[in-house]
Amino acid sequence: MTRCPLCQSASVTQFPVGLKRALRSDGLILDEPLRKDSCADCSALIGRNVDIEVPYRRSDGTSPREIARHAGIAKGLQAEIAALGASGPILELGAANFQTSLHLAHAMPDAQITALEPSPESLPQTSEIDIRVGTLADVSFATPFAVVYANHVLEHIADPKEFLAQIATILAPDGHVLLSCPSGLVPSHELLFSDHLYHFTPTAMAAVATGSGLWLRDSKPTPWEPFSRLFHFTRTPVPDSAPPPTAVAALYAHRVRYLMQWSQADGRLCQAMSGSPILFGGGEFSQLIRAYLPKLWSRITCIIVDDLEGVRTFDKPVFRTSEVDLRGRDIVVGLHPMSSEAVTERLLGLGAASVLSPIGMPENDQCT
Ligand SMILES: [Zn+2]
Repeated sequence: MTRCPLCQSASVTQFPVGLKRALRSDGLILDEPLRKDSCADCSALIGRNVDIEVPYRRSDGTSPREIARHAGIAKGLQAEIAALGASGPILELGAANFQTSLHLAHAMPDAQITALEPSPESLPQTSEIDIRVGTLADVSFATPFAVVYANHVLEHIADPKEFLAQIATILAPDGHVLLSCPSGLVPSHELLFSDHLYHFTPTAMAAVATGSGLWLRDSKPTPWEPFSRLFHFTRTPVPDSAPPPTAVAALYAHRVRYLMQWSQADGRLCQAMSGSPILFGGGEFSQLIRAYLPKLWSRITCIIVDDLEGVRTFDKPVFRTSEVDLRGRDIVVGLHPMSSEAVTERLLGLGAASVLSPIGMPENDQCT
């Protein structure tokens, strides 16, 4: 019997995802159903697609949109660190292109910041931060850290308990650990990636921390990223820090409803749109459409974007929005619905016949 790798419960069942293919977060499509298991005790979802030996196709992460994102993460982290009153050396884990730590160094010029990444997207030439290449198992540090943070890293780590245990050994006794990852409490597009190995609820995260040398102190929605949760750990336990119980049945039903929208989207949009639609957007959400709406994808003629920089790899021609006559055309919006409203109005204003999204607005959530 397969146990939950997070809380060791035996109540693990296959979640009814209903998608025939699986998308890795770099855009690679796996020709097998997206598989997640569900734990009835900690309410975690556990990714069950086998990783394949194809290198990640990551961008260098330096498009204006990416830079703005990293600046926003750094600003949010700076506020969290200030609120904790933490001072001393800071470490980022899974720094990718190091932009978050570089922005944090600009905001906190007196801070001593180290950034660790096993496979860097790029290696900036800078003395502002201490860049280290490797994993926690490969490197050693001269002094313990006051703050260790990682943004959207833990969900990709096969053994999160081991990861927390490694962090515990390099954290100062009064240090803080801040880990942001997709929230297991809020069903979102984050569920749709095969390499998101875990969708953590606070209950699941507390179970992971048990015995690692770190204690889950509290958690909250990540201030700088929607659909994410910021988990805060320390090396000493605090009384009454057990997370509130998860509404297991309600969360399960919410996830089912969310994924059903995706499994039905191909048929729904193909029926609603005649001829050859255009796709607006060249990012992650358009990659989801490519993977999970294959019939619609085969009919899409081209992709339009406002900014050609940072567009991901697609097998369709990409144009600037201003270069294409949109009058009478059906347009699919490859953006999350929470940011698509203004775009929809603009495209209709340019004469589009219809503008549709694969999924609706997020439900008001009782689970957060
Ligand atoms: Zn569990």
